[in-house]
Amino acid sequence: MNNIFPGKDISDEDLISKIPLSASKGFTQPVTVGGVTFGGAEVPIVAGPNTVESEEMIVEIAKEVQLAGAKVLRGGAFKPLTFPYRSSTYREAGSIGLEWLASAKVESSLLVATEIIDIRDMEKVCEVADFLQIGSRNMQNFPLLIESARTGKAIILKRHYGSSLRDWLGAAEYILNEGNHNLILCERGVAAPHTHKQTSRFLIDIQVIPAVHEFSHLPIMADPSHASFWQPWVSPLACAAVAAGADSVMLEVHPNPREAWVDPLQALNYSEFETLSRKIQQIAKLTREF
Ligand code: PEP
Ligand code: MN
Repeated sequence: MNNIFPGKDISDEDLISKIPLSASKGFTQPVTVGGVTFGGAEVPIVAGPNTVESEEMIVEIAKEVQLAGAKVLRGGAFKPLTFPYRSSTYREAGSIGLEWLASAKVESSLLVATEIIDIRDMEKVCEVADFLQIGSRNMQNFPLLIESARTGKAIILKRHYGSSLRDWLGAAEYILNEGNHNLILCERGVAAPHTHKQTSRFLIDIQVIPAVHEFSHLPIMADPSHASFWQPWVSPLACAAVAAGADSVMLEVHPNPREAWVDPLQALNYSEFETLSRKIQQIAKLTREF
């Protein structure tokens, strides 16, 4: 079979037999969770720390980001940390972190997104999560995708940093194929020959945002914090992503970024977040009016 779009890595045959659910419609179908719509006129912001560090900390962050316009609180209790060693400054909270997230949810009215890395934790993660986040490293962990989909929870599927759009939509297909349509894709930066250097950790793939809109009905979120790994670049990249059509933005926020347990260089402080949150809404308004 010929490609409708010669040169593109997704063929006509793929659209029919491999990704019929994730690439079936070229217009965005909004996903609404707890009254927050992804893929509509608004650009909801998901904000919070990399790791949930204490109950006080996550409750405070929840209130601060909510005041500044966030709709969803993010924060990892279970983290896919690159290295196996733990210390007082490089660790994850684990199960107790889920309880702290639950407090933050009660104290604010934010929805909660948190990462699931192990099927064995599914039940307890689902007690607090409104969104199960599948991390970049687990994008093709198919049993995890299937079990997550079966919970019926909304899912944020991060793109693996080495994945093509075709592979990413293939992973999304596993979730849709379980009958779970509350799915949001998240671009978080890809590895390229010049990345993993001082000048660039990952490369945010701005181009994949219109590509997702062309091939899929799924809403697309952008995470410039994990892409750049560098706070000064987060705001310009977030703005570019929204201008390119991102339906949502995920941002890391920490009261004292340099003291964050994980990824201390990329988090925004409260005032930086507040400024960016306003900019995002302005750009969204400007670029969606036509
Ligand atoms: C995260 O969002 O905390 C995270 C680990 O991101 P990623 O899976 O994109 O690296
Ligand atoms: Mn779209």
